Amino acid sequence: MRMSDETKPSHFIREKIDADLAEGRYPGVITRFPPEPNGYLHIGHAKSICLNFGLAQEYQGRCNLRFDDTNPVKEDQEYVDSIQEDVRWLGFDWENEPLFASDYFEQMYGFAVELIEKGLAYVCTLSPEEFKEYRGVPTRPGTPSPHRDRPVEENLDLFQRMRAGEFEDGTYVLRAKIDMSSPNLHMRDPAIYRIRHASHHRTGDAWCLYPIYDFAHCLEDALEQISHSLCTLEFEVHRPLYNWILEQVSVPRPLPEQTEFARLNLTYTVMSKRKLLQLVQEEKVRGWDDPRMPTLSGMRRRGYPPAAIRKFCDKVGITKFNSLTEFELLEFCVREELNRVAQRRMAVLDPLKVVITNYPEGEEEFFEAQNNPENEADGTRQVPFSREIWIDRADFMEEAPKKFFRLAPGREVRLRSACYITCNEVIKNEAGEVVELQCSWDPESRGGGTPDGRRVKGTLHWVSARHALPAEVRLYDRLFLEAQPDQVEGKEFTECLNPDSAQIVNAFVEPALDGFAAGSPLQFERTGYFTTDPDSAPGALVFNRTATLRDSWKKK
Ligand code: ATP
Ligand code: MG
Repeated sequence: MRMSDETKPSHFIREKIDADLAEGRYPGVITRFPPEPNGYLHIGHAKSICLNFGLAQEYQGRCNLRFDDTNPVKEDQEYVDSIQEDVRWLGFDWENEPLFASDYFEQMYGFAVELIEKGLAYVCTLSPEEFKEYRGVPTRPGTPSPHRDRPVEENLDLFQRMRAGEFEDGTYVLRAKIDMSSPNLHMRDPAIYRIRHASHHRTGDAWCLYPIYDFAHCLEDALEQISHSLCTLEFEVHRPLYNWILEQVSVPRPLPEQTEFARLNLTYTVMSKRKLLQLVQEEKVRGWDDPRMPTLSGMRRRGYPPAAIRKFCDKVGITKFNSLTEFELLEFCVREELNRVAQRRMAVLDPLKVVITNYPEGEEEFFEAQNNPENEADGTRQVPFSREIWIDRADFMEEAPKKFFRLAPGREVRLRSACYITCNEVIKNEAGEVVELQCSWDPESRGGGTPDGRRVKGTLHWVSARHALPAEVRLYDRLFLEAQPDQVEGKEFTECLNPDSAQIVNAFVEPALDGFAAGSPLQFERTGYFTTDPDSAPGALVFNRTATLRDSWKKK
């Protein structure tokens, strides 16, 4: 039974599952998330994770985390570890140990032998070029391989010798014997096993023969008794092969059914692991978890809350049509979540000194500030105040227009959570640059109001100079300048990188930011959403900007 969640829109896969269960096709819902451990997970994978694990939760079924590790050359334990960390971070878990396709290699080999014995597979020695030529084009039947009618005994012998390591890579393949005249090229006797003398990250040198994805994947699903095998649209043309293989071999019944949905594409982003690996290897970014990467580890480091990513995946929905989602939608979900949960603090990113001339030297006092106006339970903190403070340079203008409600000569503003100050004098250096403002405060305005009910329009954030902590703040922008970086004519996607995607500034932050856990959400008042970077250390604080407060990209 479905635990219906009224807040989530329904979609064709839910409807299909409801119908399948009503007909009694499956005893329950078992899905799987099957990453190949050849890279870190990205936001596209999040869509698949939310769908597969989400459906399992809804229908009180199960979702297996299964590593599709059938290609020994590109896979690595580092990826196996990062994938588990990322799935958990996103908020999902699996019941048992993660599963590995490589654990089924012996069984898969057995199913291949079963096909040979039934006269449904044969060993072929056509070269890759000949293979392609014989296969032909969809509009005309292909040419049968000269080895298509090799006797069963000979096939069994050759296949066993392929396993024993007698032959070089690329010399022999095992092919399913299906239909050389099918309009679907995947059904024209596809290769199902190839020779690869390569060490595997889990099975070591036990095998030099590896199953091809199309053969392995359906068997993995069937062996795990998956009910609904959900994959992206490009696998639609592979579905007849998926079904053919399972129907021929003695795997448990009922057989799983494959259903396809549209993959997630996001503007200003590349989403293939191969391209992301290229960015890492060519050092265009600082690693897989660079906060500008569309990887889950990058987004975690940047401060995107997992709840925002789940919400985003719900909003994108599940359809049968490929489309392009705006990056702004993801940022909208991030801001919405952060506005609710982020702790407010003050930080000055472009400091300008303000001296409060009528405040006694050497004295200090503390003002109470709210941690999160959206959530009373987050409480308050004490913010130190003294004679010298930092404000942001952009909050002062010497020749200010009427509508500028911040600081200017002769004007009065409120310091957030503190008091009112008035600018009396502007100090400049020899180059004529403003280096200091001399202001006076009204002690009566402590806490934010005055007995005479005087009102000021502007409120500035600030940090007491004596108490401030220096911090490195990393301001991130889009990684690419083009909405579809891998589809610009005549340009490599790496030529579309935004040269200003990371800017580093030296800031002053309030002392309460010391020791703030990496990843926990913060709002620097009036400046943006931030989080502590894992590089941060006592005395050397580092923060990443998660997002600006509002969508400023469109105005550029
Ligand atoms: P990539 O093209 O980035 O290498 P992949 O499909 O080869 O991705 P896998 O590790 O095989 O990567 O993917 C695991 C699962 O995630 C698959 O079921 C795949 O369909 C799904 N997936 C991958 N990319 C997306 C995406 N952009 N949107 C939705 N699902 C995706
Ligand atoms: Mg894949």
